Amino acid sequence: MTSLPKCSLCGGAMKAGHTPFTIDFEKGVVVIRHVPAQVCNTCGESWIEDVTSAQLEIRVKAAQSGQRQFEVIDMAI
Ligand SMILES: [Zn+2]
Repeated sequence: MTSLPKCSLCGGAMKAGHTPFTIDFEKGVVVIRHVPAQVCNTCGESWIEDVTSAQLEIRVKAAQSGQRQFEVIDMAI
């Protein structure tokens, strides 16, 4: 039996959706758009799964090794 994930903030129902994710580091900023996540219907809190955050980490590391101060990555592409 699987239960639907509940929001850790308000207890509302979480639904599969997308959320933007921003990382601010010493050399610049990486913005990742359309990150697959569970999004709360009530308060909009988003929760990124472990598998997805592992993928994010790889993308961010690649962006950090570049020379650009501002990098926008779109996960939907
Ligand atoms: Zn909520």
